[in-house]
Amino acid sequence: MQGNSINNIFKKIILESSEMVFLANDFYPYEIFYTNESFEENIGHSLKDKTLIQLGIDVNSFLFKEQILFEFEGSKYEFSFEQPQDNSSNYYLFYKGKTITTNGLPTQEELLQLLNDAQEAYVVAKPDGEVCFSNKKALSLFGFSQDEKLYHLRETGFLFSDRNLWREWLKLGKEQLKTASLVSGKENELILEINATPADLDNNELILLSFKDISDKVALEKNLEESSQFLKNLTDQVPGGLYQMVLDQEGKMSFSFLSKGIATILGMSPEEITSFSDISSAIAKVHPMDLGQVVMSSVSSAKTLQPWQCQFRVKRGDSEDYHWVLGAARPEVLSNGDMVWYGYLTDITAQKEFETQLDDSRKAAEKANQVKSEFLSMISHELRTPLNAISGSTYSLMQDNPQHHQKDALTTINFAVENLITMINDLLDFQKIEAGKLKIEKAPLLLDSLVNQIIQGLSFHAKDTKNTLALEMDEGLDILVNADKTRLAQVLNNLITNALKFTRDGKVEVKVKLIDKMDSRAKVYFQVKDSGIGIAPEDQERIFNDFDQVKPTFSTKYGGTGLGLSITRKLLNLMGSEIHLKSKVGEGSEFSFELELDVMNQPLSDPGKVGLIPSTISSLHLLLAEDNDVNALVLGKIIKKWGYSFERVHNGREAVEAVKKTDFDCILMDIQMPEMDGFEATAAIKKFSDLPVIALTAAAKLEIMDRINEYGFDGFVAKPIDASELLKVIREAILERNQSA
Ligand code: ADP
Repeated sequence: MQGNSINNIFKKIILESSEMVFLANDFYPYEIFYTNESFEENIGHSLKDKTLIQLGIDVNSFLFKEQILFEFEGSKYEFSFEQPQDNSSNYYLFYKGKTITTNGLPTQEELLQLLNDAQEAYVVAKPDGEVCFSNKKALSLFGFSQDEKLYHLRETGFLFSDRNLWREWLKLGKEQLKTASLVSGKENELILEINATPADLDNNELILLSFKDISDKVALEKNLEESSQFLKNLTDQVPGGLYQMVLDQEGKMSFSFLSKGIATILGMSPEEITSFSDISSAIAKVHPMDLGQVVMSSVSSAKTLQPWQCQFRVKRGDSEDYHWVLGAARPEVLSNGDMVWYGYLTDITAQKEFETQLDDSRKAAEKANQVKSEFLSMISHELRTPLNAISGSTYSLMQDNPQHHQKDALTTINFAVENLITMINDLLDFQKIEAGKLKIEKAPLLLDSLVNQIIQGLSFHAKDTKNTLALEMDEGLDILVNADKTRLAQVLNNLITNALKFTRDGKVEVKVKLIDKMDSRAKVYFQVKDSGIGIAPEDQERIFNDFDQVKPTFSTKYGGTGLGLSITRKLLNLMGSEIHLKSKVGEGSEFSFELELDVMNQPLSDPGKVGLIPSTISSLHLLLAEDNDVNALVLGKIIKKWGYSFERVHNGREAVEAVKKTDFDCILMDIQMPEMDGFEATAAIKKFSDLPVIALTAAAKLEIMDRINEYGFDGFVAKPIDASELLKVIREAILERNQSA
């Protein structure tokens, strides 16, 4: 057959070649008539019918190809292929045959390729440590370039910080899969996780090593451990203690965490605190007096989910030694419905003690201040009575045509006494303002007539100080406003008196301007301007301070306490206003302020009555109720000077009787009198008479102001009596009664 045409030598070479070779007929069923050893080993031995059909080769589909691929029993094969060229050869030649995959498993080459491309680092080593193969990843992991081959190194072991481990681990690898951590790396220390798998390749005992860089993971774990250690230190070291408390859905409360600090606060040992989770043992430690508050605030925090805060006392250990603690916590509802509070407790015993001390000192200081005020107020009142006598007597002496030298002396006495009176009034007012007792008492008043009265009242003083006092008032200020007459008058008096005091042979101008007027409100601007000594810029703020004067020596020259402007400013503030000052040394000063006043809507009484100005009242018969003879004598003299007549009684009871018997125009009623005081008498009189009653009292105005209004007095004059002030009040009271009659 054709077999004979093949040279015997070639036959032998082909037969012994490791590559597979076979020949098949070119006609169906394409019988395989020649095979070499390699073919038999791989394919032939399991081929039942030696035909191309049996091998699954469809010759027609390969006719123009030189390469042929086919699968047989799960393995893939590749052959070079030659078909019959002419009639001289009528067989198919399959040569250079090789297995591509065996039984579905990768070939050795494929395996190496796979390993090379793998994401993990692989090294194949012999049991003695010699490296046969390392993949790309392994090369870069150990710090080699792709060209350097790791297997140039006799063994990989030297790369590890402990070479013995490598050897030991190779032994392990032979037995079974193991994991070990080793430190490796050319430059950096890496932490690697190593897997060793024994692998038999072509009957060679090898070990497949895989390396995983777990340095980051280990660092992270270390970091985590450090952070939790840090947190633990923090919770242990912070002053006070931290805790976590849980309220579960069944309403059970317990501590889920308590730091060491809590043990310190509660006077317990760190061991005790670890088993301290029951809330009732914590509650047992709270002072019985504070328990209610602790429970209530906790319940409220749970209901409203608002942070909890409470100060309470807790028992230390088993003793009765209570310590103050401050507790604060923030509640949070967990997804399972439990409520948890994160909170802290801190010992505030020292702070509490300090607060108590502070409170005690504050109370002591308040008490001392009160004693001082009471003393000051008492002394001032005591001073008023003799001053009243001096002032009244001086006044009446002055009216008795004294001789020239006597007049000088009387003027000096008058100056001194008036100064003293101002001082005492200032001090009393100051006391009231300081104590917050001064209230603005509003009542209807005619704005223009108030201003006129003040100017009139000071016109003598202006003459005394050789100044002209001028008033410039806008039209339209004849309005009835609801304001505090006494305090507004006090402010204007203070400013004008100061202006006159610090001006010689000059001019003091008072301006009142209506800036804005709506139905029920009027904005009024007041200005007091003088051509006096002026105030230096650096002193302009200071003079409004308590007891401050530009020069202390001023008080001897000009008198005063340095309280006037401070009181003025405070009064204006109470009225919702601010005082302004413009001044130039040597040229004069200008004080101004603006007031917003409530305008009373009731129309003024008919012009006839308004025209009845107090000065037209020519003859009046007055009742004077005064128990003190000196005062009665002085007042009597004053009344006579006015050309009025009077009757004197010694107490309230007599006053009531007198009113019943006689027809008076007005009553001057002392407040402090034996048998029946001025309040009671007035109340009794008001029951049957509308006679105007004017209170005369040495008591500080503010203290009795409320009662004076309450008892229906028609006016009020403070002792020591200023004669012109008294006359003004009498006339106003009568006028008012006439108007409302
Ligand atoms: P005093 O009772 O001393 O008058 P005040 O508080 O009324 O207290 O005034 C404080 C100081 O302000 C005065 O001592 C004076 O130095 C200065 N002063 C007040 N008004 C004027 C003014 N019109 N012209 C110059 N100086 C003034």
